[in-house]
Amino acid sequence: MNIKETLKKLEHTHIAEPQELLQIINDDSCDTQLFEAADRVRKSIYGNKVFIRGLIEISNYCKNNCYYCGIRCGNKNVERYRLTPDDILQCCKAGYALGFRTFVMQGGEDNYYTDNMLCDIIKQIKSDYSDCAVTLSLGERSKESYQRLYNAGADRYLLRHETASDKHYEMLHPTEMSFKNRIRCLMDLKEIGFQTGAGFMVGSPYQTRENLVNDLMFLKKLQPQMIGIGPFIPHRDTCFKNEKAGSLRDTLVMVALTRLLLPNALIPSTTALGTISENGRELGIKAGANVVMPNLSPVDLRKHYTLYNNKICMDTEAAEGLEALKMSMQNIGYEIVTDRGDYRA
Ligand code: SAH
Repeated sequence: MNIKETLKKLEHTHIAEPQELLQIINDDSCDTQLFEAADRVRKSIYGNKVFIRGLIEISNYCKNNCYYCGIRCGNKNVERYRLTPDDILQCCKAGYALGFRTFVMQGGEDNYYTDNMLCDIIKQIKSDYSDCAVTLSLGERSKESYQRLYNAGADRYLLRHETASDKHYEMLHPTEMSFKNRIRCLMDLKEIGFQTGAGFMVGSPYQTRENLVNDLMFLKKLQPQMIGIGPFIPHRDTCFKNEKAGSLRDTLVMVALTRLLLPNALIPSTTALGTISENGRELGIKAGANVVMPNLSPVDLRKHYTLYNNKICMDTEAAEGLEALKMSMQNIGYEIVTDRGDYRA
């Protein structure tokens, strides 16, 4: 089949062979058609709506030492902070007034937050804002812990698989971390009933195009409700400081292929995408993404949650810049809505 026929099949059946995906990734002559097909598929399910999530970066303490990440425990140049339950509730209050109906608590793996503490925070948010969803992005935990957080009222959990190739996973993480445990976590989250998010970085060190195809096939099989895809961006205090960042084109292609393979997925146009290119986030939306996650963290602390360098956090990607973000989405034909923005099966 030629690439146009492959694309057409993919748009209508949402199925592709690894070889066909590789062909599309390797050939940029059909990028525009690819992005348009992904946009049609997303519009057939979610229309032109863009869902917003208020991102609260609750802590930059982390016990892990992921080689790519700026807040890894081995980085002594980070000024560490953690938010108190009250700080977090203040963020929600500000976010609710702005129109956010999903709050995402993200952080490093910080044992300071016990299950009990997190459960209390979740219950408080759910009781203060019964029309809101709570999403967690706090890394790998035991199944018992996930279950307790779910029972306390958390609706969704984001845990990127980072790469679906175990050999590649080992090149990005120290030996204490394992691909097997990452997958175990994702399985547990799904089984418990969370709307579950997986995802990966594009252009991470040592990544091959076959790895990317593998990521897509993995997602197709896992069927997560949410999928986060962003370019790898080097951080100056990591072993990967001299590596190249992932490209805009490759990231957009992966977003579009993900939309075609999993038409119902909630896919953010990520901050990392907005960081590598000035209109990256708009292009991500046009390539099939339907979520943006503006930053709701306390303004003075945002600079300390640095997973990679040059992270944008003050303009339209900040919750305070929501009006500007609304305008920029309107300009390209999309509408930001005040809505929990749940998965549509
Ligand atoms: N500790 C949580 C949250 C991680 S931060 C967890 O383990 O899930 C959220 C995501 O940021 C990570 O999953 C990773 O994909 C991404 N990230 C980390 N460092 C990055 C970098 N240097 N460039 C781009 N993305 C990065």
